Amino acid sequence: MARARRNFYRRVSKRKAPPKSFKVTCSRCGKELMMEVPAPPGKDLLCLDCYNK
Ligand SMILES: [Zn+2]
Repeated sequence: MARARRNFYRRVSKRKAPPKSFKVTCSRCGKELMMEVPAPPGKDLLCLDCYNK
């Protein structure tokens, strides 16, 4: 299991995907934004607009 996971990440990092490719939703305004890393489950995420307020 752990081994398969490591292989998965290595394969992803080798791919030339656009850097911001994970879609997350702002927990305050509901706006969708793209992030370089997947959102950790159960964590509040804010877009830049809300974060700077
Ligand atoms: Zn927001």
